[in-house]
Amino acid sequence: MSTHPLHTRHERSFDENRFVYPVLSRRAGGISVGVNLNPDKVCNFDCIYCQVNRTRQSETRFVETDSLLEELEATLLWVASGEIYQSGKFRDTPHELRRLNDIAFSGDGEPTTYRNFDQLMTDCAAVKRRLETKGQPGSAAPVKMVLITNASMFHRPHVERGLRVLDANDGEIWAKLEAGTEDYYQLIERTPIPFRQILDNITMAARIRPLVIQALFMRVHGEPPPPAEIDAFCDRLGEITSAGGQLKLVQIYTVARPPAESYVTPLADEAVDEIVERVSQRTGLVVRGFYGA
Ligand code: SF4
Repeated sequence: MSTHPLHTRHERSFDENRFVYPVLSRRAGGISVGVNLNPDKVCNFDCIYCQVNRTRQSETRFVETDSLLEELEATLLWVASGEIYQSGKFRDTPHELRRLNDIAFSGDGEPTTYRNFDQLMTDCAAVKRRLETKGQPGSAAPVKMVLITNASMFHRPHVERGLRVLDANDGEIWAKLEAGTEDYYQLIERTPIPFRQILDNITMAARIRPLVIQALFMRVHGEPPPPAEIDAFCDRLGEITSAGGQLKLVQIYTVARPPAESYVTPLADEAVDEIVERVSQRTGLVVRGFYGA
């Protein structure tokens, strides 16, 4: 029987967490501890493929910082101690994936719209550092802090400050870009924020540190993205790098769970492969593909 202080804490109490949730991520090669900064499910995009269920209202509307930080610390300890693998859905985790990979800020909306984003990044980084200093098991390598974002707010000073906190704490920014033209961008993201703003923000942020680009492509009414759109997407990536932006990886993936609109369906594996090939040839960047379910 474990003597770990968290032993008395039931799995159920983690199920009751409101802001922090561990997930097994094959893509990350380990456990990713997600932090939801948008419990109200509000987003400044309205992507046609969004997988957040907005038909059900959430009971939690606001981020309660103290609870969030407590949940983060307890969940990191639960994963780092290995106790997580004694419980329900994590019991079958393959041995090679039994490691804590990252803290991921994503959740049910755009995390950078949270108004105290910079302060929260600082507080979460402090929790991570405290555990790392104590040499928690499984934390031999630093735990990454991954921000999964639509890049719409990078130009706001408090977000810029938050990004710099990430830079100083093993941060990685995964910025969404999945169109080459304003029209296709509007078809997919349905937002009043101009495409130009997103491109400028990504360029500005990528000049300071290398970014990961996340591009989700899909069939819309049965049609995959037109080749001309993929070429335009490559041109936009080229413009970012020509302007001094560093892109360390482009991830191409497709829908895996039921999306917001029923006319959105996943790309076939071969279609993902074709896009990966085309983007990698045209841009010379490192490109990786991920298939749907
Ligand atoms: S940016 Fe993310 S959370 Fe917002 S609508 Fe798009 S997919 Fe959903």
